[in-house]
Amino acid sequence: MSTSCKTVLASRVSASFRDQIHKDIQERQICPKLVGFLANEDPAAKKYAEWTAKTCAETGVAFELRKVDKQDLEEKITEANDDKDVNGIMVYYPVFGGKQDAYLQNCVSELKDVEGLCHKFVHNVYHNVRYMDEEETMKCIIPCTPLAVVKILEYIGVYNSVLPYGNRLYGRTITVINRSEIVGRPLAAMLSNDGAKVYSVDVNGIQLFTRGSGIKLKAHKVEDIDEKLEDVVPKSDVVITGVPTPKYKLPTSLLKDGVVAINFSSCANFEDDVKSRASIFVPSVGKVTVAMLERNLLRLHDYQHNLREKQSS
Ligand code: NAD
Repeated sequence: MSTSCKTVLASRVSASFRDQIHKDIQERQICPKLVGFLANEDPAAKKYAEWTAKTCAETGVAFELRKVDKQDLEEKITEANDDKDVNGIMVYYPVFGGKQDAYLQNCVSELKDVEGLCHKFVHNVYHNVRYMDEEETMKCIIPCTPLAVVKILEYIGVYNSVLPYGNRLYGRTITVINRSEIVGRPLAAMLSNDGAKVYSVDVNGIQLFTRGSGIKLKAHKVEDIDEKLEDVVPKSDVVITGVPTPKYKLPTSLLKDGVVAINFSSCANFEDDVKSRASIFVPSVGKVTVAMLERNLLRLHDYQHNLREKQSS
């Protein structure tokens, strides 16, 4: 039994990113601007917006929350796309739900898409394409929550820095319980693109994400497998949960001794005694997600600036 589990808080992981962003903004005397569109009455969205406003104020990002009627949202996004003073755009989903929200995600200009939800960025995650341009000068924007989980795994040393970039999860077995298009599926893809063997679990079953071996970065492959949660969790070095119901509790008895346990759901998905088995427990990731939002914003700010310079020269 593991006797010395360490709890790693998201505030701890996010601190170095936030300090770096703050320093960067101050030294370069820039003021990147992020616009958030709120078109629903969801209390969770309101809370996330308040949290984003607080973090941005601390780091020097200009954050403006625009409350809009959902019927006007597309037009307001287009206006923000055309406004050179706006560097990043985010929308608090769900707005209409389903395919109409997917349409809205593609209305945001890719040069302002801080959440990495437009088709090009999503496609690039699934195909292990890491740059936006052929010259490989502009890295792709990665969706904030999957990126936050990757940064947490780097922070706690699950990524092996001795191995080459793109293969640093080689040898790791990871279970992700959630396969939503926003978090779980891109996360499983990214982890397998970095060399891990990933069991991706949802209500309908389990898929195995793996990447071919070799030096060149390759996209992962996915197969449906006939195994149960009880089979895959005990084999996993890392278990990541994101089930949005308070009733869901992953039995501690399934976890391997010394496992790394990470929960990104707003509900606690591990049982209270998770630390009796885990070596590292990360109860939430939200603060790292907001830091990634700001990191993406700075990146897009610089891309816009560089492109304008190129066009005017
Ligand atoms: P979602 O409803 O779109 O997806 C939930 C996923 O969990 C689905 O893949 C579903 O099949 C799976 N699931 C549900 N019950 C399950 C069960 N019993 N066993 C196995 N899998 C099960 O939700 P989401 O947007 O991915 O959010 C999930 C949680 O993560 C929420 O608590 C949310 O607040 C939090 N979160 C969401 C975001 C975001 O950007 N959407 C970001 C950070 C955290």
